[in-house]
Amino acid sequence: MTQSTKPSAGSGAAAAPRSCWRCGGEAGEAWLCPACGTIQPPPDTVDEFACLGFPRHLQLDATLVAERFHERSRQIHPDFFQTKSDRERVLSLEASSRLNRAYRVLRDPIERIQALIRLETGERETTAKAPSDLVEEVFELQETLERARGHREEGVVREQLRKEQERWQQRLARVDDELRELSARWDRAVDRGDEKAKREVVSALRDRLSGRQYLVNTIEDVTMTLEGRSDAKDRRH
Ligand SMILES: [Zn+2]
Repeated sequence: MTQSTKPSAGSGAAAAPRSCWRCGGEAGEAWLCPACGTIQPPPDTVDEFACLGFPRHLQLDATLVAERFHERSRQIHPDFFQTKSDRERVLSLEASSRLNRAYRVLRDPIERIQALIRLETGERETTAKAPSDLVEEVFELQETLERARGHREEGVVREQLRKEQERWQQRLARVDDELRELSARWDRAVDRGDEKAKREVVSALRDRLSGRQYLVNTIEDVTMTLEGRSDAKDRRH
């Protein structure tokens, strides 16, 4: 990992200089004013990476992510603000909810990619979309699922479904490999400051992520059908 281990490392984003609401000193992006130690309002933009002091990298060391979280939690935990002013108590609650969210997002490689796409494109949700090279397979699977739900040729169909389940899980594993590769490419593009490469990688990440969501939904449908849960039927597709 290349990122600095200093907790004060900035996000790299040029934020407007902020002054401390209590002493007027330069507070920058710090949680606590460097001059008087007073807790500061969270930044306007919800940036999970900046919140834990990481550059916008996708390959983050899990141990370091946890360390940063615990370190920052100790600084702003609402328990330490019980005897402070109302404003400080509110700010510590806000900061701690931001921090918890950032930790939830950054500890998970897929959530991390999702957050990056949101920050880079402004899109909030990834819609599940069948990968274009799987149209045929999707069609076949739907037929098998229908037969299974209609309890036709039960034994044979179940065997088929189990094979399908395995096949789709392998596809999911392949997409996860691709996402790992793209994550490495993203980090290199960030380090080089290559804006064109960054745009290309984000678009590829978005594409794989929506394919991945489709695969996850599909596997869930197959699993539910195998388990005989009828609620699989009326969702999605
Ligand atoms: Zn201050």
